[in-house]
Amino acid sequence: MSTTVQMMPSSAGAKKPAAPVQKEDSMWLQKELINGNYHEVATAHAVGKKVSATFVPGNLNELLMCFDFARRLPETDALQNGMRKKSGKMIMDAERDGHSEDVCTYVKSDLGMMLQGDLGPTGEPMPKPDVLLLSYTGCFTFMKWFELVRQKYDCETVMLHVPYQGDGRINPAMRDYVVKQINDKVIPTLEKVSGVKFDIDRLRQYMKESVKAEENLVWTLQSAKRKPSPIDGYFGAVYYIGPIFTAFRGTPQATKFYDTLRGEIEQRIREGKGPVTPEGEHPGEKYRLVVEGPPNWTSFRDFWKMFYDEGAVVVASTYAKVGGVYDFGFRHDPDHPIESLAEYCLGCYTNLNFPQRIDMICKYMDEYQADGLLINSIKSCNSFSAGQLLILREVEKRTGKPAAFIESDLVDPRYFSAANIKNRLESYFQMQKRTAAQSADQTRAVH
Ligand code: SF4
Repeated sequence: MSTTVQMMPSSAGAKKPAAPVQKEDSMWLQKELINGNYHEVATAHAVGKKVSATFVPGNLNELLMCFDFARRLPETDALQNGMRKKSGKMIMDAERDGHSEDVCTYVKSDLGMMLQGDLGPTGEPMPKPDVLLLSYTGCFTFMKWFELVRQKYDCETVMLHVPYQGDGRINPAMRDYVVKQINDKVIPTLEKVSGVKFDIDRLRQYMKESVKAEENLVWTLQSAKRKPSPIDGYFGAVYYIGPIFTAFRGTPQATKFYDTLRGEIEQRIREGKGPVTPEGEHPGEKYRLVVEGPPNWTSFRDFWKMFYDEGAVVVASTYAKVGGVYDFGFRHDPDHPIESLAEYCLGCYTNLNFPQRIDMICKYMDEYQADGLLINSIKSCNSFSAGQLLILREVEKRTGKPAAFIESDLVDPRYFSAANIKNRLESYFQMQKRTAAQSADQTRAVH
């Protein structure tokens, strides 16, 4: 494994020169893949390819590849624009165009990008999609988002309706309902738009690749059960989930990426090392946390620093499951490809009910030997944020571990208050320290 450096801008408004960012080979590879996909999308029409747009949770990437689509993912555009500090102006442009402050900022960033001429995060022009594939997995905003986008692009739209797991389980009728829509509606639409005939063996082949990547992703995320954890399961995991949650699930590039990643982590385990941070080796694991809620992207590096400066490592996060919950056993199944696409969509994190989400977090707290839970409540994401106080109270009650609540936003820099968040985190870590000291005292008293 080698660790290399890249110059990266520091926080908005900071006067200090940018510090070099430490990156492992897999992180470079990830960047290459994502940028390569932007180039493929940007040049698709020039080489006679059609372009699809679809959302990350419930994306049918292997199926789209069967029709040779170049694949756009609007949330990834917003996220990448946020990390590149371009989203603030886009959001304000969308608000000037009439969109309320309460609308999800991924949506406003996307609409603002269009208003600015649809230049993608890497600066290349983004083509008009030929099809919008709306896989509806629990977030109502997805529907409203594509309604707005459809008005602008005036292109074919196909919706896959995925029933919510209200009872906390997937029954056969739910799966059959989704399978029927894929067979009767989604595939014929994709055939019509692309002009390519569906070949189920091609789908099976892609899924064989998906399974390899899924196995290695799960191994990677679960490596955080070790002490010290060799990875950060929230900030670091953003790099790990990138390829498989976007346009690469089912490709040999994803297989290669996850093989490289696994090799790096195995090496870290052999050397007894903790995670790599943007400033190099982690200063030493003092607190092990589980985090619920997506990260903030506009101040991603500063946000991460607030954790590793205090010796905190995130050992598991729900966000690392947003494009697929694989750690409880689900894998795409080449022998039942359409059925497994249906199960994948039904099992998406945004499609789980509250008891399931609470169970998941409690399980992480236990299996990853976490010291506490931190909730990053995202102002504009109702899918994640609604009910988080209930989650917090219930997890505290069931695990006896302290939980804390901070608020920020995905890509709106106006809603990241560094001083407030730092204050909250410092108090939380003080509380963790006191809890640890008290339990050490109790142990001594018993012995
Ligand atoms: S509300 Fe949340 S889940 Fe829905 S589109 Fe926005 S960020 Fe994604």
